[in-house]
Amino acid sequence: MKVAVFSTHRFEREYLEKTLDGKHDTKYINSPLSIETASLAEGYEAVSIFVSDNASTAVLQILGKIGVKFLVLRSAGYNHVDLEAAKKLNIKVARVPEYSPYAVAEHTAGLMLALNRKLIRSHNRVMEQNFSLDGLVGFDMHEKTVGIIGTGKIGSVVTKIMNGFGCRILAFDKIENHELKNKYGALYTDCETLCRESDIITLHVPLTLETKYLIDKSFISKMKKGAMLINTSRGALVCTKDIIDALKNGQIGYFGMDVYEEEEHLFFEDHSEDILQDETIALLMAFKNVLVTGHQAFLTKEALRNIAVTTLQNLDCFENGIKTNNELLV
Ligand code: NAD
Repeated sequence: MKVAVFSTHRFEREYLEKTLDGKHDTKYINSPLSIETASLAEGYEAVSIFVSDNASTAVLQILGKIGVKFLVLRSAGYNHVDLEAAKKLNIKVARVPEYSPYAVAEHTAGLMLALNRKLIRSHNRVMEQNFSLDGLVGFDMHEKTVGIIGTGKIGSVVTKIMNGFGCRILAFDKIENHELKNKYGALYTDCETLCRESDIITLHVPLTLETKYLIDKSFISKMKKGAMLINTSRGALVCTKDIIDALKNGQIGYFGMDVYEEEEHLFFEDHSEDILQDETIALLMAFKNVLVTGHQAFLTKEALRNIAVTTLQNLDCFENGIKTNNELLV
């Protein structure tokens, strides 16, 4: 099948080439899918996209008009795809539901440790031959309460890692995971109790209408003063403006973010020669107790290999009319 692969990044290209080439007729396009670039898929039955591509109604209409039948996501999250529109246009959509929950969970733990033990500040100091420890005091993770919002694939691994640290674990999810309760000490509770009692809160629910701005002024006001918040899920789970207010008044003591509400205009590209126009992220980056990574939690060799393999399976299933559980239905 002819596949136009949008947003091909250098970090993933060898994995995609090794897996897809020779099996499908691929065209690698560096630009993201958008109204301006959609016509590049003319003559292609399938389009593959990443997390920062635009698969809104308007873009899907263009794809439908030029004969695209399949949209194959190289991501688990699909909040950037208008599934209703895809259905109306008879464009089938499939995703990679799981590629490495370990990658994201381990990055989450990395953010917690780096913030707690002030590793970036300490590294910068040492580079200047400043070996003073003043201002670098952290806390033991052992016996701290960690609130895990969303105990699906990634949240489960985070629970196990936190259990390894000897943390008390509070969990919030629509569905309770009995293994986490019985073997890893997770105590399921309501969101408010988790919020009030946790020293660290980490987010692992998908972005939906229900979860958008889950962390807002009202939620933050109920948190322990100085608690840590980690978001490796989706930017709009938190109201960034409210986070900034809470960082300014000390209500939030540490903030680790791998995702950002406005990331699609910023992340995954080199803007080092540009004048930064986004004042919100500029402000966030200025706090010493904020650590920003550019949506890299997934970025391990294992995850990239799995993304490529599942993308191939999804294309094969679509080509051969085989049902796949990875298909996203409205
Ligand atoms: P998952 O579907 O396995 O788990 C999500 C969990 O959230 C489920 O247990 C579900 O019951 C729960 N949930 C959903 N809505 C809820 C609600 N309103 N209230 C309470 N619980 C709710 O997903 P996953 O694989 O663990 O991934 C979680 C999220 O991580 C993804 O949706 C994606 O946004 C994000 N993600 C980020 C990266 C990254 O690189 N930063 C990579 C992959 C995934």
